[in-house]
Amino acid sequence: MFSFPDDYEQGWTLGNEIKKEGIGLHTGLECQVIIKPSASPGFQVSFSEEPNNVFSLDISQVRNTPLCTTLDLNGKKISTVEHLLASLIGSGLTHAHIEITGSEIPLLDGSAIGWIEEIEKVGMINSATAPKPRPELNSPMFVNKGESVIFAIPSKNFKLTGMIDFPYKAIGQQMFSVEMSPNNFVKEIAPARTFGFLDQLEELKRAGLIKGGALKNALVCNGDSWVNPPLRFANEPVRHKLLDLIGDLAFVGLPRAQIFVYKGSHSLHNEFAASLQKVLT
Ligand SMILES: [Zn+2]
Repeated sequence: MFSFPDDYEQGWTLGNEIKKEGIGLHTGLECQVIIKPSASPGFQVSFSEEPNNVFSLDISQVRNTPLCTTLDLNGKKISTVEHLLASLIGSGLTHAHIEITGSEIPLLDGSAIGWIEEIEKVGMINSATAPKPRPELNSPMFVNKGESVIFAIPSKNFKLTGMIDFPYKAIGQQMFSVEMSPNNFVKEIAPARTFGFLDQLEELKRAGLIKGGALKNALVCNGDSWVNPPLRFANEPVRHKLLDLIGDLAFVGLPRAQIFVYKGSHSLHNEFAASLQKVLT
């Protein structure tokens, strides 16, 4: 039976192709993704209508959007890439080719588990080439926006600690700390779903966002309680924030660092990833 790699040290690609269809969170439109084994290190992206035009995933392609991470590939935008990318890099894959039909990645149930189940079905094989080097920190590093902050210190291991603080009784203050490995990612982070707030849902829908948002693909908070319980973990929201961070780190690789994140957001994650890119080059 297939088991995920023990750590993030080796190069791995998929044993076979994965195909998944679904609804995009923001557009509400049907989209499809095929993930293929690859001999090239890193993650590559192409569109089904132009299969020979292949983009290597790079931090310069990231655009800040309020609720998700969007890629700009020569003017063509792809939204909500973070959960798919977190699934690939978090499970230990280092080489993969993503072929997209549409302008968004299917949201599935709002977590990474749907992708993980597909990876488990096809398994992984050692990659033909060495993986890209992971960022190494020489000294502590931090980025902040107002009171939101990411702080990283050099470490042999990759350890994450997330903290959130919401003025809603159902969420409140939460902290979660995890020694990262593919197995811990799969068990502790991947099942955590995206979450939203009932009072913001209508506002976002009016603004043309989250057209595909529904109770089956996000946890919805109504202040004191959850509209669609049960939760998969008592602290599912802070675990999902770590899932988003891992997805946003896929552009530069998982650093050898211990990372603390307080009230993270995609724009803060992207700023942190840009700082890691400088360490790499
Ligand atoms: Zn998310």
